[in-house]
Amino acid sequence: MSAATNGILGHCAHCGNTLALESWQLNAISINEAFACSHCHKALQLNDPKQIKRFKSIDSLAMLRASTLVMVCTTLLVALVMEWLGMLSVIEQLNFSLVAILIYFLVVRFARHRQHMTLILEAAKAHTD
Ligand SMILES: [Zn+2]
Repeated sequence: MSAATNGILGHCAHCGNTLALESWQLNAISINEAFACSHCHKALQLNDPKQIKRFKSIDSLAMLRASTLVMVCTTLLVALVMEWLGMLSVIEQLNFSLVAILIYFLVVRFARHRQHMTLILEAAKAHTD
């Protein structure tokens, strides 16, 4: 994914700063590893199961966006072909396409809104393995 700042913030337990989480930090969270705060460089970890669950849901949001895009493209193509075949009038085809595009933008907005979050990060505990 290209987004370096994807709207996910983390609150540091050590220095109290809110940091925009970079992709490597998000990777660390997703594999449940500790990582350093960008401000104070102390180890942080996400331990709250509720927040972990919410964090994991970002993947399914990306899936939702991708599958909606595929659906919209298919709809546009089908509408176009149906117009060529004379099964739809130009106006009907336009309406059809507009509704599909509208749905896509609604889904993208919803996904973006859901993705915006601030994770309350805890100090990383010493590894016990
Ligand atoms: Zn910090």
